Amino acid sequence: MKSTPLTVALLGNPNSGKTTVFNAVTGSRQRVANYPGVTVEAKHGRAGGDGEELIIVDLPGTYSLTAHSIEELVARNYIIEQSPDVVVDVLDSSNLERNLYLATQLIELGAPLVLALNMSDLARARGFEIDAPLLSELLGVPIVQTTASRKRGIDEVLATARQVGHDPAAAVAAQRKPDYGHEIEPHVRELTDRLAAHPQLAPHARWFAVKLLERDEVSAERIGKLAGPQAAQDLLADAERLAEHIESVFGDAAEIVLADRRYGYIAGACAEAVQHTAETRRQRSDRIDAIVTHPHLGLPIFAVLMYLVFQLTFALGNPLVNWLDGGKTALAGWVRHVGGEGLLVSLLADGVIEGVGAVLVFVPLIALLYVGISILEDSGYMARAAFVLDKLMHRIGLHGKSFVPMLIGFGCTVPAVMATRILETRRDRLTTMLILPLMSCGARLPVYVLLIGAFFPHRRWSIGSIEVSNQAILLFAIYVIGIALAVLAAWVLRKTVLRGEVTPFVMELPPYRLPNARGLLVHVWERSGEYVKKAGTIILAIVIVLWAMKTWPQLPAAQAESYEVRRVAAAGELTGEALDRRLAQINVEQHRAELQHSAVGRIGRGIAPVLQPCGFDWRISTALLGSFAAKEIFISQMGVIYAVDDETDQQSETLRQKLAADYPPLVGFCMMLFILIATPCVATVAVTVRESGGWKWALLQWSYLTVLAWLVTVAVFQVGSLLNIGTQPLG
Ligand code: GDP
Ligand code: MG
Repeated sequence: MKSTPLTVALLGNPNSGKTTVFNAVTGSRQRVANYPGVTVEAKHGRAGGDGEELIIVDLPGTYSLTAHSIEELVARNYIIEQSPDVVVDVLDSSNLERNLYLATQLIELGAPLVLALNMSDLARARGFEIDAPLLSELLGVPIVQTTASRKRGIDEVLATARQVGHDPAAAVAAQRKPDYGHEIEPHVRELTDRLAAHPQLAPHARWFAVKLLERDEVSAERIGKLAGPQAAQDLLADAERLAEHIESVFGDAAEIVLADRRYGYIAGACAEAVQHTAETRRQRSDRIDAIVTHPHLGLPIFAVLMYLVFQLTFALGNPLVNWLDGGKTALAGWVRHVGGEGLLVSLLADGVIEGVGAVLVFVPLIALLYVGISILEDSGYMARAAFVLDKLMHRIGLHGKSFVPMLIGFGCTVPAVMATRILETRRDRLTTMLILPLMSCGARLPVYVLLIGAFFPHRRWSIGSIEVSNQAILLFAIYVIGIALAVLAAWVLRKTVLRGEVTPFVMELPPYRLPNARGLLVHVWERSGEYVKKAGTIILAIVIVLWAMKTWPQLPAAQAESYEVRRVAAAGELTGEALDRRLAQINVEQHRAELQHSAVGRIGRGIAPVLQPCGFDWRISTALLGSFAAKEIFISQMGVIYAVDDETDQQSETLRQKLAADYPPLVGFCMMLFILIATPCVATVAVTVRESGGWKWALLQWSYLTVLAWLVTVAVFQVGSLLNIGTQPLG
């Protein structure tokens, strides 16, 4: 404990009641001090009350710690340079949101803080009901409600100030700093880390980082004094670069963007902790919020907007994907045509172009999905959606914001895993990451389409004016099963490996704004770029490994030659189209034999007994093995096994017929289930390793999903077989 009395500084907006609080605590024991060089006065006094004596300083009123006026400068310099033991921020509760702005800055600075919500009488008269304990929990700052003019709550302010003053480190550690969102936050952290490398700056590193991004000159000067001119110059250059990046994305001055975020933080906190019991004048933004965060309307509005985003994404994106897919196939064909039969050609055409291409063709879908999501995000709507979904998500142990990555997951799991960065706590991030593969991604869609087409002939019913098709229902059911399993998995994870209570925290409600086109483009470009980069590195490596496993061991020379002999024989017997057909037939037969002989084929046979209770034989097992590289490879793998080339529509029709002839619909459905649940693709594994910071979580993700897939599929197959549902092949 200190031997000298603790110093308590009173800070707050003008007319919030600081002087009234000051007079109430000090009685008449006060004096006026003039700070050297400035004429603004600050009063010092002593307060005893029932406990130890405190020195109280009444500072000039200020709206923020950004020094715009001489009063603000005095207040700010006092707080930063004199470092009082405790700062009591006196707020006008009847105008809480505006008054909290200063509080967020004090939190950002890491000042040992107490909030005195003054003018409680006025706030009540104006119809505000403030849940002080909740607000205190949300901000992580002790709060005392006062009515200074009637000396209410004054003793409590002193007692709380003493507590904070005796353990300032704990008080500061409990504070919840405003989060600047996944676009800005990483930059703030990057700069904070660099500033923290200088011991003199370390205690206020985050504060300085934010101030530098805001191009605050006073802070720049101070950093020069504390860290030396050379270091300051480097840091300023870094900050400038980051500030310009932020400006290019948001199309607004960094200072404004950051302030918006702070207001968003406050709006979010107040939306939770403050109720308007009487009719209050609402701003435009409040009126929109009243509709989109309405307890009953909120969810339907969200659902409709999401549907629009998906509809738009797939309507515009699918033609592009098909076009790229055609280009990929043509390119691979061209390489085979030009290169001939060699191993290198096979690596290039079958491995690199087909494998990496299969991932790259989804870029338009992903970019479009991002455009939609970025518009919702930049406009400020996404924050409202998170607000609406928060309660629902909390029930399964997830954070409201988790739905953003989950949504992206319907497009592709890779960028979805990266989007978990918007979640603050590691536990929330991990839980979300682990369940993301259950959001059925775009790559699984072609597999479902093939299997549904093969096993479930189209039927329609009319319910009133609505047409229902069994195929659409089945597809929808698969997506819903994925979501239901995700909910279940999240709940289990929260009860086991990721245990811990869901802490309430502020859901930021930033102001609505028109998204700006340039910012949108930068967003989409950067995010799609990360996806492409992934395909170019990790996926490429794994594709090559899988290609090798499909290629080796090679057929014994004698057997390989026998195909050659048949080709030559065919050329002697047949001509024209008949010859082409025969040659193609021999080719696919050879491919099939090669696959069976290869490592993949052998492993497929090896695991077949394990998958037998799911209703799968060695052919399905082998194809499933291939789907580990990318889900849609299941189709081409099945095609190879059945010795059909699935490159044209007509031939994919053949594959359907063959499947329908060999397996009952029940097995078809089980394949869909297994594709949905099991083994996230290699790209997902790779990005999970990186984002979770190690193999442990990726391994857990991979294995729990595979076990879950097995359990679910076995259950469905066994129950289905027992009840004799769909056990007769159609063909
Ligand atoms: P300062 O600028 O922050 O120092 O504010 P003052 O202490 O000078 O107070 C401004 C005005 O608000 C004065 O007229 C006070 O009497 C009044 N005031 C202070 N606290 C309260 C309060 O809790 N309730 C009400 N109704 N008025 C208050
Ligand atoms: Mg005053």
